[in-house]
Amino acid sequence: MVVAKEYAPTQQRLEAEFTIHKLYEAPDRDAFLKCHASSVRALATYTASGADAKLMDALPKLQLISHFGVGYDAIDVGAAKQRNIMVTNTPDVLNDCVADTAMSLVLNVMRQFPRSENWLRAGNWREVIGYPLTVSLGGKTLGILGLGRIGEAIARRAQAFGMKIAYHNRNRKNLPYAYFADAASLAKNCTVLLIATPGGAETRNLVDAKVLDALGPKGFVVNIARGSVIDEPVLIRYLQENRIAGAGLDVYVKEPQVPPELFALENAVIYPHVGSGTVETRTAMGDLQLENLRLFFAGKPVKTRVV
Ligand code: NAP
Repeated sequence: MVVAKEYAPTQQRLEAEFTIHKLYEAPDRDAFLKCHASSVRALATYTASGADAKLMDALPKLQLISHFGVGYDAIDVGAAKQRNIMVTNTPDVLNDCVADTAMSLVLNVMRQFPRSENWLRAGNWREVIGYPLTVSLGGKTLGILGLGRIGEAIARRAQAFGMKIAYHNRNRKNLPYAYFADAASLAKNCTVLLIATPGGAETRNLVDAKVLDALGPKGFVVNIARGSVIDEPVLIRYLQENRIAGAGLDVYVKEPQVPPELFALENAVIYPHVGSGTVETRTAMGDLQLENLRLFFAGKPVKTRVV
């Protein structure tokens, strides 16, 4: 069963290779689930369209949830575990693109390239050197909150830009980067706080007023993780009051809704959740989702199991 319409090429291959029931097209969801309850063994879930305990209970033969996306906070993994349902995701294949997106947010919020282009297009360039000076990346510390697969790819890129790397994870890693025991002490010791943790209950509002106070008026925050990791109303207030220098955001609490206040803020760079948004990466994510489904139906171990 397919929960939401997927990336078109993946969707086409799903339809070609498997018997598909499209939950997202069902006019009566409950009746549709009842009709297919005795046959559905696998679910294909897609980015923010996941699976909760109620959906799992409606499909008693369910054995696998194959997710398109590395972040699986839209799936109740605890409920899946209790019901012996496997969950797979699509890690690693998106690291490079998401890290590229993260670095572009760091560049754009510190160097203000989008804002300077808007300034030029608005006809403001009347003297040879006109746009206000910005902040350079070289020599500054990038504090990575969540130094995992994507975080490490970001760290490698940031080093090429001459940045120093610090991080906080719950578990310290054997890497030559400065480690801080919590988010606030990391924020206090960096110029850019870059969030790359998973979303979900465990990281909700991990970046709150205390962390933003520690970052201070010369500090920037960049979020490519999930909107839920930052206390969004507090972030907006801190940007409005210039209590931090700026924010680069790819993700929001209630996507696709973006808080309207952010559109008015010149110290915010905002993207529409495009972290992994390239043809190559979305194709690779779809391939991995399909591979897990194929292996499962062939009775073989799946490739990228979460639980
Ligand atoms: P990962 O390899 O699991 O890395 C996550 C890191 O976060 C780990 O190092 C983990 O270390 C740390 N972490 C987890 N909980 C934490 C907590 N409470 N406090 C501090 N650190 C914590 O995952 P990934 O593949 O790098 O992906 C990270 C996330 O990026 C995904 O879950 C997804 O939400 C997001 N993402 C966004 C986009 C986009 O388009 N914007 C695309 C892909 C992924 P410890 O376990 O030691 O704490």
